[in-house]
Amino acid sequence: MDDSDNSMSDKRTRIIVVDGSAVSRAILTRILHDEVANAEVFMCANGAEALVMLDTGRYDLVSTALMLPDMDGLELSRHIRQSRTHSYIPIIVVSGDADSRLLREGFEAGVTDYFDKSQGYKAFGSFIRSFIQRNSGMMGHILFVEDSATAAAAIQKILERQGLRVTHVRSAEDALQLMENTQQANHLLTEEYDMVITDFYLVGELTGGDLLYALRAKMHFSQQEMPVLVLTSTEDQQTQVEAFHAGANDFVTKPIVEEVLIARVRSLLLIKHQYNALKHQAEAMRWIAVTDSLTGVRSKRYLVDNGEAYIADPAHQPVWAMLIDIDHFKQINDSLGHITGDHVLAELGDTLNRTFKDGVVVRFGGEEFCVLIPKADQEQILERAELLRQQIQQLRPAGVDISVSIGLATTADFPGESLTRFLSYADKALYRSKEAGRNRVHFYQSQQGPLPSPYDPHALELTLDTESTLPLVR
Ligand code: GH3
Ligand code: MG
Ligand code: MG
Ligand code: MG
Repeated sequence: MDDSDNSMSDKRTRIIVVDGSAVSRAILTRILHDEVANAEVFMCANGAEALVMLDTGRYDLVSTALMLPDMDGLELSRHIRQSRTHSYIPIIVVSGDADSRLLREGFEAGVTDYFDKSQGYKAFGSFIRSFIQRNSGMMGHILFVEDSATAAAAIQKILERQGLRVTHVRSAEDALQLMENTQQANHLLTEEYDMVITDFYLVGELTGGDLLYALRAKMHFSQQEMPVLVLTSTEDQQTQVEAFHAGANDFVTKPIVEEVLIARVRSLLLIKHQYNALKHQAEAMRWIAVTDSLTGVRSKRYLVDNGEAYIADPAHQPVWAMLIDIDHFKQINDSLGHITGDHVLAELGDTLNRTFKDGVVVRFGGEEFCVLIPKADQEQILERAELLRQQIQQLRPAGVDISVSIGLATTADFPGESLTRFLSYADKALYRSKEAGRNRVHFYQSQQGPLPSPYDPHALELTLDTESTLPLVR
């Protein structure tokens, strides 16, 4: 049996993200989770932390910023290349510009590839995904069935030199036992195999052909889900035919030629990885579709699919819609760059998620959010909107002063109205907030149209002479 190291037994791609900025780390993590099949992301704030982490676990990829608080990304790369545990791990440097130093010194420092951050975070996701695809030919866990101790030792060595994880057993019975354990148990906690390599003639009752039959006919593993490579001897053509009939993907003849074995294993693992990617994609589809990866809030897709039912649900009445639009956001992009703009959006998304745990927060447009809040009366909602307006003024996301304009509407005023119409009233109120000078709250009333929130100090200025009894929120 193999060693007891469990960290590689799950099928996740373990990625370390090294970046001094907490916001960047959070965004990169979200992007990687969304874009990379089965990514497990570990965050480090500096190079020293990353080196400790690499020393104590097993990882598949390191992504580092060029500038780190304690060293630079190239120095980190040099340290990793000299390390005992991960000298061959792929290292990607994420930098603000295609730094000339990176081009000159990067390869010497052992950097595998670099990503130009000015392309935006979304592009980072697809970059990493294709990077992993290009480099994932030989990642995997092989169940290896061979009864000859000398053959087993030689082949296991060849496979392990390629970075593959190998579990060796001597009989088909033992192999089936392991397979059955895997199928029954929670996959996250047990060994999962990417492919099987089996000798045809084995100790025990069962042959490699019987093992194949059990995998295909009884356990219903397809050739894509569990590729099987059979070892036969050169003269034994009858066995080769039998192996194909029983569902083998391919065979190699003994004595083993290393290059041939590697080439066959590589192509079978590729099939398996493609199968995994497809399967994962199907599972992840729902989440990719419903969450916005930059801001972490629900996507517009989610609102379109669920909003109508949400506002009609009797248990939610009355529902309030709050539209929140960042003021002069284009200027932030223009003066500070899109990356800063992205950071602002991400932090605002976090704030909204935390503030409206009782509602549904949606990214409605580029720099516009929509929150649906159930069971709230007008006073509560106006108070919350005003608190939010003030809170965002203090927030300084990514160090930038921002303000928002807010528009509100309630189903109580528009019972039975469609989602689109309902939101259009909130939008009218938002438009009035912009028109009135931005950084304001307006709500739409069925009789009077958009009205300024009496909690909003701007509104109070205008209505001081009318007897407003509503308290001012601090
Ligand atoms: P107003 O106060 O009238 O709302 O002005 P504004 O500049 O905020 O509004 P406008 O609609 O003119 O501009 C919105 C800008 O938001 C334009 C677009 O480039 C930017 N934007 C949209 N989505 C994103 C994004 O994901 N990231 C970044 N950085 N910018 C975005
Ligand atoms: Mg044998
Ligand atoms: Mg705006
Ligand atoms: Mg806008």
